[in-house]
Amino acid sequence: MDAVKRFDVAIVGAGPAGSATAIALARKGFSVLLLDKRIFPREKLCGDFLNPITLPLLENLRVMEELRLLSPRKITAFRISLASGAQATSRFPAANGRPSFGLGLRRKDLDYTLLKRAVKLGAFLQEGYQVRAIERIKAVWSIAVEGKTTKERLEARLLIGADGRHSRVAHRLGLARPDGDNRGSVAFQLRLAGVRGLNNEVQIRLFPGGYAGLMALDDETANLCFTVKPEQIQRAPSVPALMKQALWKNPSLARALEPSEIVGEARSAYPVYFPPRHSHGEGVLLVGDAARVTEPVTGEGIFFALQSGALAASTAERAFERGDFSAEQLSAYRDACREAFARRQRLNSIIRALIHRPALTAVLLRLSAPTFLLRELCRDAPVWAGA
Ligand SMILES: Cc1cc2nc3c(=O)[nH]c(=O)nc-3n(C[C@H](O)[C@H](O)[C@H](O)COP(=O)(O)OP(=O)(O)OC[C@H]3O[C@@H](n4cnc5c(N)ncnc54)[C@H](O)[C@@H]3O)c2cc1C
Repeated sequence: MDAVKRFDVAIVGAGPAGSATAIALARKGFSVLLLDKRIFPREKLCGDFLNPITLPLLENLRVMEELRLLSPRKITAFRISLASGAQATSRFPAANGRPSFGLGLRRKDLDYTLLKRAVKLGAFLQEGYQVRAIERIKAVWSIAVEGKTTKERLEARLLIGADGRHSRVAHRLGLARPDGDNRGSVAFQLRLAGVRGLNNEVQIRLFPGGYAGLMALDDETANLCFTVKPEQIQRAPSVPALMKQALWKNPSLARALEPSEIVGEARSAYPVYFPPRHSHGEGVLLVGDAARVTEPVTGEGIFFALQSGALAASTAERAFERGDFSAEQLSAYRDACREAFARRQRLNSIIRALIHRPALTAVLLRLSAPTFLLRELCRDAPVWAGA
């Protein structure tokens, strides 16, 4: 085992939440370890949609210029459609007199761009390493990590869990709730070529038992994500068969997908949604999906990852100023998250409830309520707290 490496902050997980936190902390002059079990650039299950509310955060992280060079697709509207054929479309609201838009961008490219920015600012990247043990001795975290051929021990004053929905940090430190009666849906993601009628929209199409999100990434390729109940999977021998059994029940979705072919491999995630976790403890904060996941129908997971990273960095800075890493001092992060995300959390819960009740959604469609909700999803320009 090599000599122990010491840092102010150790961040486990170098997805958008981990890299955004690392960027904000490295800018302030902290020594930051950014650790990930994967080697970058790497593929990642996602709808690849950046909601317009995310773009000011990416500007603040100073990565937009590099992202523009990747020619992301401008996405200008949300469309929701039911199996009955009823539908609503909402263009993203204008901002400062200009039309607003989101972006279609592969996660592999987004995550790698953020990671490179963190490293450029001085974060120390340790990739291809799994966390094996975490313990806190005399207010210092000792983290045992293991790569393919080597083991190392790392130390830090503050630990940030940015290791995604199945966060090992959250589970190891008792911040995750017991899984309990988790009968959620399963999500799949694939790339398709030859999908019909996508325009520059994110399309949410409901079918019995779940919903699909479709979006063009370029002129040839589209991203398809869909969620189904676990029992629907048991009846299907393969992903294409599952699509035919479940998604084809929405006739307009069947028409859009019929001429398409799958390119690349399918990815899956389970459960799609779970309630928020405790986001802080003695000497530790959780950011991004490690702290909270939303129903992906609203396309705001990356917004939350980046913004929670900024809020965590501000809380960390104050903790270092005071030399106090107690749970009480770090509870400022929980309060800041509540304030920043309460309205969006409520909106996500309403939309979650609606997508699983198509009859109610059909009534609301007639009253133009989904148009209102879809607009609300892209409304506020967030305040950056960690610049
Ligand atoms: C089906 C689906 C579609 C979605 N579509 C969208 C969308 O279109 N737009 C959107 O904004 N959001 C979307 N989301 C949500 C979005 O993907 C997440 O919110 C986002 O990835 C959270 O970022 P993160 O950095 O918190 O976690 P992650 O992106 O999961 O990153 C976590 C990192 O931690 C690493 N890691 C994990 N465990 C360890 C360990 N033990 N040791 C070291 N490293 C570890 C992983 O390798 C990974 O790199 C979708 C989610 C789902 C399920």
